[in-house]
Amino acid sequence: MAKLHFYYSAMNAGKTTTLLQSNYNYLERGMRTLLLTPKIDDRFAVGKIHSRIGLEADAITFTPEEDLLQITKNYLEQGPVHCVFVDEAQFLSKNQVFQLTEVVDKLLIPVLAYGLRTDFQAEPFPGSLYLMAWAESFTEIKTICHCGRKATHVLRLDENGLPIAMGEQIAIGGNESYVSVCRKHYKLGETR
Ligand SMILES: [Zn+2]
Repeated sequence: MAKLHFYYSAMNAGKTTTLLQSNYNYLERGMRTLLLTPKIDDRFAVGKIHSRIGLEADAITFTPEEDLLQITKNYLEQGPVHCVFVDEAQFLSKNQVFQLTEVVDKLLIPVLAYGLRTDFQAEPFPGSLYLMAWAESFTEIKTICHCGRKATHVLRLDENGLPIAMGEQIAIGGNESYVSVCRKHYKLGETR
């Protein structure tokens, strides 16, 4: 049975690497996949999914207004689709998470969505909130804090490496960086 799977983690846990590895496993068996990525970040070439360790694959980008069920139907016209992968799934809209459930329930295609659970203010991203509510399979991709505990939270750092408490949920192209820490060190704002 096809399912909607949500793979979640803090930052820099290897979500995209895991996505690209799973995609490769399908391709190796002669299967055809659809890779989707939100059109958020223009720093890289449009239509690519990149991982930190240098892997990449072609993807279809989508805006918050686009219908992911329709994009999948269009892609089906050119051949069978054995799996749909979604990178940066925290940026999905509520409607788009519903559309992914329709890909599973009506088109019978498994969907694997990969995303951050919470932002740097420990608030859930909308996409992750509705994936938590509507998916039927959940997998945590684990990474660790500097103290050795599981990292569950994300600190946004300024150009001097100091934690920033306020700001937009999505900051693209600034001098900010992010570090994953445990809840205790998130509260303390301690990155080392
Ligand atoms: Zn810690």
